[in-house]
Order: sequence, then structure tokens, then C-alpha cells
Amino acid sequence: MTSTAVPKISQLDDLPFDIPELKIKYLAERDKRLAARPEGNEQYQQFKGMFAHYLTDPYIPRVERGPIDTEIDFLVLGAGFGGLCLAARLMEAGITNMRIMDKAGDFGGTWYWNRYPGAACDVESYIYMPLLEETGYIPTEKYAKAPELLEHSRRIGRHYGLYDNAVFHTEANVITWNEESKRWIVKTDRGDTFRTRFFATASGPLNMPKLPGVKGVEKFKGHSFHTSRWDYDYTGGSLHGNLDKIGDKKIGIIGTGATAIQAIPHLGKGAGKLYVFQRTPSSVARRDNRPTDADWAASLKPGWQEHRQENFLRVMGGAQDEEDLVGDGWTSFTRWMKNVGIKGIDRKAIYTEYPNLLEIADYQNMERIRARCDEVVRDKETAEGLKPWYRQFCKRPCFHDEYLDTYNNPNVHLVHTDGKGIDEITETGIIANGKHHDLDCIIYSTGFEVGTSYTRRSNFKITGRNNTTLDDHWSDRNRTFHGFHMHNFPNLFMISTLHSGYAANFVHMLSRQGKHIAALVKQCKEEGIVEVEATEEAEREWTDRIIKGQWRSAKYQQECTPGYYNLEGQKNDSERAKSKGNYGEGAIAFCKLMDEWREKGDLAGLKVVRDGRG
Ligand code: NDP
Repeated sequence: MTSTAVPKISQLDDLPFDIPELKIKYLAERDKRLAARPEGNEQYQQFKGMFAHYLTDPYIPRVERGPIDTEIDFLVLGAGFGGLCLAARLMEAGITNMRIMDKAGDFGGTWYWNRYPGAACDVESYIYMPLLEETGYIPTEKYAKAPELLEHSRRIGRHYGLYDNAVFHTEANVITWNEESKRWIVKTDRGDTFRTRFFATASGPLNMPKLPGVKGVEKFKGHSFHTSRWDYDYTGGSLHGNLDKIGDKKIGIIGTGATAIQAIPHLGKGAGKLYVFQRTPSSVARRDNRPTDADWAASLKPGWQEHRQENFLRVMGGAQDEEDLVGDGWTSFTRWMKNVGIKGIDRKAIYTEYPNLLEIADYQNMERIRARCDEVVRDKETAEGLKPWYRQFCKRPCFHDEYLDTYNNPNVHLVHTDGKGIDEITETGIIANGKHHDLDCIIYSTGFEVGTSYTRRSNFKITGRNNTTLDDHWSDRNRTFHGFHMHNFPNLFMISTLHSGYAANFVHMLSRQGKHIAALVKQCKEEGIVEVEATEEAEREWTDRIIKGQWRSAKYQQECTPGYYNLEGQKNDSERAKSKGNYGEGAIAFCKLMDEWREKGDLAGLKVVRDGRG
């Protein structure tokens, strides 16, 4: 069966699995995890102090330079796909006196840092890679690998002339609104001062790696690194694998999330011995990657990329009356819904009128994913340990064609800790399930901070009008207008998932956000507007709307095994937790709302100051 085939449920009361039994099992799995680590995000260790060296850039050496002191129209913080999409649209709009800054040594963001072997996008590259038509590029595969993604980031940089405006290996650390000059003053770790009229943060949702907070992390005397700073000097090989220096090494990898799923097949091939320390298994469906069909590429008509991206959004949202252009593991879930009788794309109806059917489709899908473990993995105990016991969207769904098979290699050992995680790290290895494993190298595939404070993740302090810091502003709830603007923070635009339309293809949303901000700034320029700031009222209304829109996710996520989707099991019904959500009606509705808002042109919800006169 391919990942997209859909078996029929002809009689709902004749299902090949016992729903009450599965429900109990899922909740027991969640409880086990919560009992082992009840402290949520607090369980993790930041890369600070003695661990700071883990974050050093292993890819491009930092070159010393003198401080920059300059006045500009726009500063974009972050040079990943979010920052690039915005910077590209600003250049198109004639806002060329701008800079784009990143702590990395080049464009790329996620794809600059994540160079682990096997790294690839897991959303189709034709919809994931931004600005394909603008740059005249067609990806070589349905799911492009990291080098191609990184090179595409550079391509965008070159195409829009952004290298001349780029400030790399530089971190903004103090950002302050100056009322007198009506400028943001941005200070950096290089001693720079940028005085900018507008600025945007595009630092990405997964930009701050984290360590597991377990006893003894500091003690290990062997080699160790995080997956987002892969050490090829140690492993040999490249992003394409062939890790030829570790044939005599005992390697331990901690974590089995979306990153580890892609790296483990290469480690399994290269390492003398590989121990995979697993707390919760991922759901791993088939990938079915394939090279781009040249005839298909030649047949594409102008506007094809946005059309395909929007088709994906609509199909993911439940649309069943149009062709599924992408047709992969992501959109197959919609086809499953259709198969159990769920119709239409009314998101609310999907969750209010069809919850039982949706749950059945979910169980059925997960049964198929669990069955795949038995089909592929020969050792019964290992296959059992690799089965995920939670609903499909409790954790990021993974797709891979070699991951499970890697456990058939005699040198690869799954250390399934059954929800407990590792016990301790020692000078010579890892203790898990009470047993010590001697290791030469530990690879931390333990992910990134999500749900911690924005200031902590971004590493800079923003102080707006009336000395209001972002931490003050969000002390009891996260407040924005449209996810972009905040009261007391004039001319600041935030590009993130917060209060915005969230979609599996996050990059598509980034490109829409970039277009939106550039259009707004262009309008400011044309109409002599020097300040835009969310009114208190508009911000309150939008934030209330976000909070009210969380009717669906809280219960679903509370029943999930912990992970970053549900704030490590801490997601609750409090207003504070709900205020950290996305736009409840979904990405399609969010984009439509923003398009309509822009088309009206009255900048409703923003206080506008023209030519400094108010
Ligand atoms: P994750 O947060 O998904 O995974 C971290 C892993 O570390 C989990 O398996 C977690 O277990 C485990 N872990 C944490 N602490 C311990 C411990 N004490 N003992 C044992 N295990 C532990 O991070 P990833 O880097 O894998 O992925 C992050 C995100 O990056 C993905 O969800 C995805 O959004 C993105 N990504 C996207 C890709 C793409 O193609 N677009 C490719 C790769 C990643 P547990 O589950 O129990 O918490």
C-alpha cells in the first residue's frame, strides 16, 4: 500500500480495532510521559555558560570587522526564508535602503544551521521553496535535500541583490524605540548601531537549540554535538551521508523527532555501533521521494506556484471538491476524512460536527503507521518499541523510506526508554533503563525551544514606546494585532506563527507575511506615513479573537503525549496559554482576511502618523 492509498470503512461498527481500548492506551502513554517529566519546558537545559560552545558556527568562520553606524529605512532581523521573503518584496517595492541581519554566516536560517546528514524538506519542495517562479528555479526532487535548500536561499539573496545589504555573523542584542528621532535604535554584538525607521523580526520558530535537562550532561568526556551544528570533521562524510570516520565508533543519538528520523539512516550505515535513545517514537509514514519530471516542469504556467500552494492549503483544510495537486502523506489525511464521510472545508464543522469520525480516521491512520513497524522491522521487540501511541497531529508527522529499515542493521540498537527518557549522562556514556552504554560520541537530536519567552529565544531585548519591553507587554498574555503589530511598538513587524495563520507549509505563510508587510510599507512611503502602530483597542480585539479561536486545540492537545506542539504537556485552558495560539479559523481564512484588509487600504486598527505631524 502506498502512503496515499485509502482503505474503505464501509461499516463504522465493524472496525478492525477497539476504540475504547486505544483511547485508554493513548492516555496511559501521555500520563507515563507526564509523570516522568512533569516540569514541561523547564526540563530542558539552555546552551548557556559552559554549554555555549555547542552553538559555535562550524560552517563559516566569523571574520572580524569594524562596527557599522548607519541610518536606514528598514532592518530585517533573520535571513532564513521568512527574512528573505520579506527582503525580496521590500526590494521589489523600492525599499532598497535596507539591511538584513543574521547570526549565521550566510542566508538560509534553518537550512544554514541544519546540515545533518539526510536533512531534507518534508513538505513538497515545489510548494515549500519560496519564490521559485521569481528566481526561475525548479527543484530537482519532490522533497529537496538541504544543500539544494541552502543554495536556493543564496539564489534568492543573489537574485534580489541582497548580499550587498546583508550583515552576517551579527546578533542584535538591544533594540530601543527613540521617540525623538522616531527611529528604532538597534545595537549588536559587533558594536554596530542601526537607526531604522521600520524593522521586522523574522527569527524563526525553531531557532534556539536545547539540551536534555538530565543529570551529568556536563560530565561526558567523549565527543558531543547538537544536530544543528553537525561535526563532519568528526563523522566524516557530508549531508549526503558516507560518514566514513565513525566506522570504529560507538555513537549514541538522543531523540527520535523529525531531525533524528532523517539522520539515523546515515548514522546506521556509518557508525560501528549506533544506540538510539528514544523517549517517544515518531509516526513514520512513507516518503516516496522522486526526481522532478522534466515534462511536468515544462508544462507549468505562470502563477503555478501560488496556485499549488493554495491548493495544498485548501486540501489540508478539508476541501474535497478539487484536485489534490501535491498528493502526498500530508494531504492523504484529508482523503481519509473524506472516506469516513467528512465533507467540506468548514474547519469548525470538522471539529464540532464530525469529531467521532475524525477520531476514527485518525485511529485508522495510526494503526496503518504502527502496522508499518511490524512490516519493516524484523525484531519484534524493536518493532513494538517504534510504534507511536497518540493521535496523528500530536507530534509532527514524519515521512521516511529508510528509517525503520535501519533497525534491521545488526549494528543499530534501539534503546526504548518507554516514555522515561535517559536517566543520566556519565563521563563515558549514557545510562538508560538503569543500564550504562559506553559511547565515543553523543549526538543531541533534542530539538529547539518552543513556548519559552520570545526574548529568551531571540536573545535580544526590545523596548518600545513609554519604556515598554516586550516581556512587559506580554507578561500576562501575548498581545498583537494581526500577529504583526503591537501597541507601543510602532513600525515594528513580527513575522512568526503567533496569532497568524498556521499551516503545515509554514514557508508559504512566511511568503504571504512578507508580501503583506512590504505592501504596507510601500503604502506608507507613497502616502507619507512615517509611523504605524496598533491601537490598544485593535490589539485587544485581535488577541481576544485569538483566545476565543482556541476552542478546538486545547482538548485535543491535552490528550496528547507531551511535545513542543502542546508546550510539553503544559497546554491548558488558561487565557495565557490560549493567547500563544494561531488564528483559529486557519491559514486560508487568515490570508483572505489580510488580503481584504490591505485592499480596503484604510489601515483600520493602526494609528497612523503622516510626515511626523500626527
Ligand atoms: P523535536 O523536538 O521534534 O525532537 C526532540 C527529540 O528529543 C524528541 O524525540 C524528544 O522526545 C527527545 N528528547 C528530549 N529530551 C529527551 C530526554 N531527556 N531523553 C530522551 N529523549 C529526549 O526536535 P527535532 O529537531 O527532531 O525536530 C524539530 C522540528 O524541526 C520538527 O518538528 C519540524 O518541525 C522541524 N523539522 C523539519 C524538517 C523539514 O523537513 N521541514 C526536518 C526536520 C525537522 P519526546 O518526543 O519524548 O519529547
